[in-house]
Amino acid sequence: MARRSYAIGVRGAGVVGLWQALVLARRGHAVTLYEQSAQPFAESCSVYAGAMLALRCEEDNAEPVINELGKRGIALWRETYPGTAVNGTIAVALGRDRAELDRFARMTGGHRRLSAAELVALEPGLGDRFAGALFFAEEAHLAPEPALRFVLDRAQAEGVRLRLGASEAPEGADLVIDCRGLGAKDDLPNLRGVRGERIVVKSRDVTLTRPVRLLHPRFPLYVVPWSDGLYMIGATVIESEETGAITLRSALDLLSAAYAVDPAFAEAEIVRQGAGARPAFPDNRPRIIARNGYIYVNGLYRNGFLLAPALAELVADYVETGAKDPEVFVEDPAQR
Ligand SMILES: Cc1cc2nc3c(=O)[nH]c(=O)nc-3n(C[C@H](O)[C@H](O)[C@H](O)COP(=O)(O)OP(=O)(O)OC[C@H]3O[C@@H](n4cnc5c(N)ncnc54)[C@H](O)[C@@H]3O)c2cc1C
Repeated sequence: MARRSYAIGVRGAGVVGLWQALVLARRGHAVTLYEQSAQPFAESCSVYAGAMLALRCEEDNAEPVINELGKRGIALWRETYPGTAVNGTIAVALGRDRAELDRFARMTGGHRRLSAAELVALEPGLGDRFAGALFFAEEAHLAPEPALRFVLDRAQAEGVRLRLGASEAPEGADLVIDCRGLGAKDDLPNLRGVRGERIVVKSRDVTLTRPVRLLHPRFPLYVVPWSDGLYMIGATVIESEETGAITLRSALDLLSAAYAVDPAFAEAEIVRQGAGARPAFPDNRPRIIARNGYIYVNGLYRNGFLLAPALAELVADYVETGAKDPEVFVEDPAQR
């Protein structure tokens, strides 16, 4: 029997809405993507991301569902976007924070301990400054802006129509998928923003090829190599929805962490700084909430890039078969 094709409106062109539009269009649905901003990504949290696909390191503060969806997420990024780098992640700790490495090893899976020689062989820039290191081979990363542009282009090539400057709920669609991130707070009162500050630098001297996490008891931070000598240094986790410029204290923490990871950052040029607010529910788990032809996909918190492709597939399956994955579909209106 031929699958029914629907006219679907997707609200919000962050990483969640883009993947949603792409997956539904690939399955033959007529998709229109509505974005409030006049330029793509101008008002999205997604441009602030790392964007690490950290299905293992995030086990430190996430539920098992993140890992399961994350595996599918990485597979879909790899199939779709040639810029997906699967080089793994290294976690390191300075001598005084050695206990953090043991704690992190207990809280996460899919890693192996690196000897000093193995660490230098993998990332010569890390030298012998660390008390120990863990290697998470499954993890991947990408540069967010080129990746978002690529997914948008792919979606349009699959027939998705993009409407910029469009903030009203679409009319006349069979179904609406609401991917407005924090913009959906009017409908989802439990949603909150968690401020993440980051700095992007450019360096000719740093040679890192994979994300490096510097474990620390108070502010664990990381460095992500994008491309063309750009490195993202991130990120704070602050219970606030304020975006805009970062604070002096956070700048000191972020830049000190980068310098501790690799002193070659000393000569780097600061290219941009800023903060985004991650959309999150009280338990920091992602949710799909389906009600009368209107479906919210939200609360991806620290893992929007990791999870967006897999959640898009779950929504498409639901649209076509009514199947609801109990790990992410929420029925109870009180949990919205
Ligand atoms: C500093 C930082 C680092 C991060 N690092 C990582 C990482 O390494 N890996 C990872 O996986 N995740 C990371 N994240 C998390 C990730 O960025 C978020 O989970 C993700 O961006 C959420 O995507 P979204 O599409 O739900 O929201 P958004 O990107 O905010 O997109 C929502 C879109 O909806 C639009 N919108 C709002 N209201 C309306 C309306 N009424 N009509 C139409 N459009 C509307 C907005 O303009 C916006 O474009 C990080 C986040 C931050 C802040």
